[in-house]
Parts: sequence; structure tokens; C-alpha cells
Amino acid sequence: MSEKRPLSSYVINKSALKRIAFIYIPLYAAFWMTFFIIGEITQKHEDALVMTQDFKHQIPIAYNDRYNVEFMGLEKYHPFDSVKYRRVFNALGLPEEKILHAGEPDRSILLLAQTPAYLESLNSSWTLARITELGFLRFFPSNVTRNALLEPMMYQVGGSLLAASAALDRGWAINLGGGFHHASADSGNGFCTYADISLIVKYLRQQEKIKRAMIIDLDAHQGNGYQRDFLGDKDVFIVDMYNREIFPHDGKAKAAIAVKVELPAYTSDTAYLPDEQQALKTAFEKFKPDILIYNAGTDVLDGDPLGSLRVSEKGIIRRDEMVFQAAFDHHVPIVMLFGGGYQKSDAPVIAKSILNLKKKFSLW
Ligand SMILES: [Zn+2]
Repeated sequence: MSEKRPLSSYVINKSALKRIAFIYIPLYAAFWMTFFIIGEITQKHEDALVMTQDFKHQIPIAYNDRYNVEFMGLEKYHPFDSVKYRRVFNALGLPEEKILHAGEPDRSILLLAQTPAYLESLNSSWTLARITELGFLRFFPSNVTRNALLEPMMYQVGGSLLAASAALDRGWAINLGGGFHHASADSGNGFCTYADISLIVKYLRQQEKIKRAMIIDLDAHQGNGYQRDFLGDKDVFIVDMYNREIFPHDGKAKAAIAVKVELPAYTSDTAYLPDEQQALKTAFEKFKPDILIYNAGTDVLDGDPLGSLRVSEKGIIRRDEMVFQAAFDHHVPIVMLFGGGYQKSDAPVIAKSILNLKKKFSLW
């Protein structure tokens, strides 16, 4: 014979409430406090961005070890290579004192490309969890997510600005990071928090160093962030080649693209490289920029789970060479940014490609 339960017991289950009150909440509070304290202890001193570096004598490659995303060693167990920046830097074998030292840009510089409300929203672990699609982050205190994630991205933004300025002096420069092409003035997405590509254009314009910019985006994804920022801007010429079958499918942003190459999934070198050559030719016939910003995402590499394209290692090396060749042929300063691509096999390909550029064009 079953006992009749009062209706209220279905709404408020006392034993469940007790478990929440006496076990789960104290456990979470202890977890949160522990990580908060770890976050405070491991807080690194800010390394501010210095824009007045010796561009003439340094190798115009920007980097800082703080680019790398490390989370108490746990990153080693993640399939994504969050320390690819360090691995590329090491593979290049450059002495640190010979290259450009990237630092964190001031808030006043970031505000050239981001709204104050958006910058404010990044202080929340919940916002960062959404942007990076790493849901677990929302349970951590914001000082931890800031140290582990936001600061590396900020340093990379500093590197993008530094490299872009150096490119105007030297004709070329490379940031060993950056290329956050899904972020725009008031939103972040797809692992991109700061709109560094938009910021380069806005910063150099503010400094009265450029008027017209060309963006060539060869990451596997559509670069919808800066595209939204420059909708209707006739002095920003956008070339975007991407897999049309993957994220972000941003129809509104596509209106900003001047030369659009929408690739089917699994496109390989034989179709990719001629399409790229044609796109470069068309772009330079139509537009003469003061700077070329090249987003060299390696998620086009065969086997990339997000990019779903089949460009080979040789194909990527040739791809990068073709963009540099076009820039040099037209006497346009070029700044190269990393973009996406987080397989463990990406770092060696990027390093090989940069060393190929060095050799081919006697860069340093
Ligand atoms: Zn991508």
C-alpha cells in the first residue's frame, strides 16, 4: 500500500535541498575560493605595450611568451595546441632580444576598436565561456579566466599592433599570434575576444599612418568580426577565402567582402592555390592599399577538425609565399597574423612557412 505524498513534497524535496545546502554549495564555495586564491597568487605583472621599439634594427617579428594559454598544466591533455606560439618561436631559433617585444595595450587603445560595454563584459567568466566555447570556464572566478585566457589574447593584440607599425617601416612584419577575425567592436565569438584586425586599421588611421587597408583572410573560416566593423567602409578592401560549409555563415558580414571565394568542404591544393592566385590578382587590380593585413590561419590544413579543408603542408607554404610575393610586387607593406589552427601539427608547418619566407625573400 503506497502512502500518499503531499503535493508540496514534489515542489520542494527536503532531502535534495539539504544536499544542496550542506554539500554542494559549501563544496563549490571551497572550489571557488581555492581558485580565486590561486588566481591572485599566479597573477603576473603586466608587461605594457611599448610602441617605440627599434624597428630598423630588430627583426620585425613580434612575440611574448605570455601569448600561450596555460591552465595549471591541464592544457597538455587538451587536443588543441594552446602553446603553438611558443613552439613556433622556438622552432624559428630567434634570440628574444633580436625581435619585437609584445606587451599589453592600454585600455585607451583597445577602445579605438571595442565598445566600453563589451570590454566590461569580458570581466565575466560567463562571457568568456561563451566566446571560447569552453563551458567549464564559467565556474571559475574571473581573475583565473583573466590570467589564463584574456591576458594571452591581450598580449597577442599588442603584438598585432606592434607588427603592423613595424611593417610600415620595414615593408613586412609577422606577429606570432593574433588574427582574431570573429571579434568585432561589440561582440566576441569563435575563440576571438578582441578585434585586433579592426584595431590595426583604426590605430594606424588615428596615428595618420594609413588611409587604405587591404585584409586578406585565408583562415578556413569567414572573418565576420572585422567585416561587420568595416561594412560600408570604401577604404578597407577585404579578400576572404573560406569553407562555405562551416561556421559562422554570417550573411550580413559577407556584404563587406570585395573578393569572396567560397570553397566547398575538402578543397585541396589543386583547386585552392589557383583560386588564391586569381583572388590576389583581382584584389590588386582593383585596390591599392597603404598596408596589407594577412590573416594566415592554418586551419585549412588537411585533417583540421574545424576547417574541413585539405590543403597540404606544401600548399600552406606556397599559399603564404604567394601573398608575400603579391605584396612585394605591388610595394605594399605586409603584416602577417596567425589566425586559427590548433592541431599539434600546425606549429611545425607555420615555422617552416616563415623560414621559407625568410629564405625566399631574404627577410633577415
Ligand atoms: Zn578559422
